[in-house]
Amino acid sequence: MVVVVEQNASEKDIEGIIRVLHDYGFDVHRSTGVNQTVLGAIGVKPDFDTRQIELLPGVAHVYRITEPYKLASRSFKPENTVLDVRGVKIGGKEIIVMAGPCSVENEKQIFTIAKSVAESGAKFLRGGAFKPRTSPYAFQGMGEEGLKLLRRAADEFGLLVITEVMDRGQIELVEQYTDVIQIGARNMQNYTFLKELGKTSKAVMLKRGLSATFEEWLMSAEYILSGGNKQVALCERGIRTFETATRNTMDISSIPVIHAKSHLPIIADPSHGIGIRDKVIPMTRAAVAAGADGIIVEVHHDPDHALSDGAQSLFPHQFAELMKQIRLIAEAIGRKVA
Ligand code: PEP
Ligand code: MN
Repeated sequence: MVVVVEQNASEKDIEGIIRVLHDYGFDVHRSTGVNQTVLGAIGVKPDFDTRQIELLPGVAHVYRITEPYKLASRSFKPENTVLDVRGVKIGGKEIIVMAGPCSVENEKQIFTIAKSVAESGAKFLRGGAFKPRTSPYAFQGMGEEGLKLLRRAADEFGLLVITEVMDRGQIELVEQYTDVIQIGARNMQNYTFLKELGKTSKAVMLKRGLSATFEEWLMSAEYILSGGNKQVALCERGIRTFETATRNTMDISSIPVIHAKSHLPIIADPSHGIGIRDKVIPMTRAAVAAGADGIIVEVHHDPDHALSDGAQSLFPHQFAELMKQIRLIAEAIGRKVA
């Protein structure tokens, strides 16, 4: 931690700051320039609240130089984490494609979509059985019946399953049907829930919260990692900004920034990221070009009648075309679509 002292601070103020830093257990290194004194404090604990120093008389700025997260950080583990989900690697050279409807609706729907996304080359079938809807009156998902259909459809067409768990009480049930547990944006800061996910043997894909900073998002991943589950991937799904023309603002910049800060794989979700069908396609291309380790895309054979997120779901033929395009983009950046 670096403490920059105010230009007109007195020697008494500076000594006072040093004393407080010592009281907190820091080693202090003082650099006195012509106009400015800077104090280097060594030994900052991850949970130290820098405001304790900011409010001392004579302090101009306090900068933390180590991240408050450890297990999720690139400095702790320089090599990429590669998840192994029943032989499918997430975070390696290959880009993994996950596709399917927003929600599982019925047998015919999920089997039709599973068949088409498998034919186009997807590795995972997505689909929610428990849905976090803004309105309590909207379709809430089929529950266990939906999980059964999702698993059967995935198995029939050689796909893996990713589906959302909304609360602690559902973990045990959903684990029986899924290969990867999806944690929704609205649950990113549900810390008691994240702690429980640290105990599951399934890989977890943690979506970014609607207004979460990179640091907050990585701190949430830290909860799962520190609970003992090292199989964690992050998912950029767009953030809330002042823009109203799109559902969310797809933050492509998170992909290279997270790769620099963390060894965890990052998946892009352009469907929720922009929320408008025809614009999902260019945002997916951009996410792959930016280095995403995977993409998760909503696809529906009859989106006009979908029970959720039809407006952002691709038609199967659009998804097939998108797959061709991202194969070319992957090749251009030395990667490959699995
Ligand atoms: C979803 O994947 O359908 C979903 C609800 O996502 P999010 O949590 O990102 O809104
Ligand atoms: Mn959705």
